[in-house]
Amino acid sequence: MPETFFITTPIYYVNAEPHIGHAYTTIMADLVARHHRQRGEDVFFLTGTDEHSSNVVRLAAEAGRTPREHADLNADRFRELGRVVGATTDFFIRTTDREHVEGVQRVMERLRESGDIYRGAYAGWYCTSCERFYLDSELLEGHVCPIHNRPVDWVEEENWFFRLSAYSDRLLARYDEDPGWVLPAARRNEARRMIEDGLEDLSISRAGVDWGVRVPWDPDQTVYVWVDALFNYYTALEYARPGEDLVARFWPPTLQVMAKDILKFHAVIWPALLMAARLELPRRLMIHGYVLKGGEKMSKTTGNVVDPFPFIAEYGIDALRYYLAREVRFGEDGTFTAEGFEARYSQELGNELGNLLNRVVSMIGRYRDGVVPADPGGDDELAGEVAAAVEATLAGYDRLDISRALEDQWRLVQRLNRLVEQRAPWTLAKDPARAGELDQTLFSLAEGLRAAAILLWPVIPGSAERILSSLGQDAADVAIARAAWGAGRGGARVAPTGPLFPRIEEKVA
Ligand SMILES: [Zn+2]
Repeated sequence: MPETFFITTPIYYVNAEPHIGHAYTTIMADLVARHHRQRGEDVFFLTGTDEHSSNVVRLAAEAGRTPREHADLNADRFRELGRVVGATTDFFIRTTDREHVEGVQRVMERLRESGDIYRGAYAGWYCTSCERFYLDSELLEGHVCPIHNRPVDWVEEENWFFRLSAYSDRLLARYDEDPGWVLPAARRNEARRMIEDGLEDLSISRAGVDWGVRVPWDPDQTVYVWVDALFNYYTALEYARPGEDLVARFWPPTLQVMAKDILKFHAVIWPALLMAARLELPRRLMIHGYVLKGGEKMSKTTGNVVDPFPFIAEYGIDALRYYLAREVRFGEDGTFTAEGFEARYSQELGNELGNLLNRVVSMIGRYRDGVVPADPGGDDELAGEVAAAVEATLAGYDRLDISRALEDQWRLVQRLNRLVEQRAPWTLAKDPARAGELDQTLFSLAEGLRAAAILLWPVIPGSAERILSSLGQDAADVAIARAAWGAGRGGARVAPTGPLFPRIEEKVA
């Protein structure tokens, strides 16, 4: 039985305009999902939309739609985002799915059985955009939400509470048991501090809200939207593939990926809820930073949104995937600039990778009638560098230092470029006595590029497959084991392909 790998993105708030932040989360999760598929693991990649929010009701009414119609329209935009960024998602959950609603109700019963659910009165400041209560100390002056920069509401009501305060010790013990449980370290420490500072019990239901999941034992109340949303990671497995028990196969999540603004929900509240429901905790949480533009978070609320779609339309999705993975160190904030994007596109993707393929294929065409020579042996140093790139890739993905893995892979690409210049096949071709050297060089270039394409496949899947096809290899076989030196198909016939990453001037013309 292959190892299983269950990876999730947060479910996206259905009213949001899909922006570069959503694209980034989905793309990074997809890189990891694809890499583990390459290892031959049994991967399940989950994403979806969070739809039970009072804002959905309000905005639907303003638009003259039912909340469900409104949610349908908006959920489609997030499905489309996943498709456009090339995400190999296995299931797209919507919290309005009937099966999810029923699943949340079953989970609520399990929580109640823990004895840590009680009825109480709550009064506090509530941000309807965050869908959470805030303490005075957490708000900006004038009772303004620090995320949305808008005044929050004073809410007083009776509802159901979860005794979160009783879970501090167990949560801290989980943190101590595995320092790599929440990554990176700065986020782990931040979450740990929240627990050490003392946890307040959590109101897990709302009164007078119709749009949501009914509390099974108290239908006047609906489940707090965050509890509803968090359990998507579990309920999805109950119905994603009818007739199959995916819970037994995949639970708990191997890796959950999210941005740092929802750290507390995922690294404090979520594991406590799972403990209460007697469900295993996720094995690892990866908290990434923001993709910034001009030093500000690109989100609708700060009015500084970067729309990824025009970049994808102009340069192709592989270019955006590559840029984000390379430029933004996973776990830290990074900056998106059009200039930086274009520079990496033309220098790295266009010159270093695209031209390399072009040169290798055309030289094999010209000097060896399009057939890659058999390995005459002797390029042990390059073979060692390929093996090192494979190791660095495995280690980088294991540590979730994907930018670093990509840098190491790129060193191989640059090494192959230098090899072309050093060995100058066009000179070797003039001297029949050096035919063996020419064979060696052409073989090594094709073999190194083939290995690089397999290693780069999670980041630039379409381009990597074109490289493999162009080198006469099976583009569908991207198993990491095939990146080993000499593992390619022998006697392959190359086929020229158009430019992988056309020059920007050509695109304009
Ligand atoms: Zn807010």
